[in-house]
Amino acid sequence: MHNAPVGFRELDERFAVAGDDYLECLFSGGRWTEGPVYVPSGKYLLFSDIPNDRIMRWDETDGSVSVFRSPAGYANGHALDRQGRLVSCEHGARRVTRTELDGSLTVIADRWEGKRFNSPNDVVVANDGAIWFTDPPYGITSDYEGHRAEPEIDGCHVYRVDPGTGAVERVADDFERPNGLAFSPDESVLYIADTRRGHLRRFDVDGGRLSGGELFCESPGGNFDGLRVDVEGRVWAAAADVYCFHPDGTHLATLPIPQPSVSNLVFGGPKRNRLFITATDSVYSIMLNTNGAWSL
Ligand code: MG
Repeated sequence: MHNAPVGFRELDERFAVAGDDYLECLFSGGRWTEGPVYVPSGKYLLFSDIPNDRIMRWDETDGSVSVFRSPAGYANGHALDRQGRLVSCEHGARRVTRTELDGSLTVIADRWEGKRFNSPNDVVVANDGAIWFTDPPYGITSDYEGHRAEPEIDGCHVYRVDPGTGAVERVADDFERPNGLAFSPDESVLYIADTRRGHLRRFDVDGGRLSGGELFCESPGGNFDGLRVDVEGRVWAAAADVYCFHPDGTHLATLPIPQPSVSNLVFGGPKRNRLFITATDSVYSIMLNTNGAWSL
């Protein structure tokens, strides 16, 4: 393990949330890490290593890394629901599942109007318990991140699982490759990445419906993948590096990551002021002078 002496490149004085000026490498030796989620009850981070079909567990109490689950359905993105249960996107089984407190799996969604999803990629759980997820094809276009298969659905869309009925609703159908998604702190706004188009879009959320969907920002480098929002509404997004944006869309700062590509990030630690970053074959973290929003 090494500590790379890199810090933020600040572009705008409104950033002002840098904590440590160095990045810690917590893990290397994966093949394509993704889907970080911090579990506060156990003080550990889970993340996917998709091509190796495993979910890994980094223990904050002693720094050890172990295999949490393998095989893991070629899991990608994860989130916690309000009961602390793990909600996971699985490329392999082309579904979204929940890990119950006894360890068993419950299928949340595996098809829409009778057709199997492409390969659910990333997920967020709203305060009302609704589960929102994206469905690009990266798990079925080859055998690398899942199982090669023909798509059954005409396109790559965004879905919402109703917390009351469990019904799956399509909430956006004009993306090319929807990927990461995150709510603003009050959940009135949902940001969604379109990886192929290289931009983030901003939607207004009302009653489980989306409106708007205008361009929020273009990627400064590489294509957007996962994203999260801090308590002051700044948007933190993964692409070639980690980029931080003001809620008005201004690019505030860049955190260079010494890997070819960054897949995702999540706020964690007991105070949610540590940013965990999955990038290519590794996992990094950096302390911040801000805290992650409670949307998990
Ligand atoms: Mg993703």
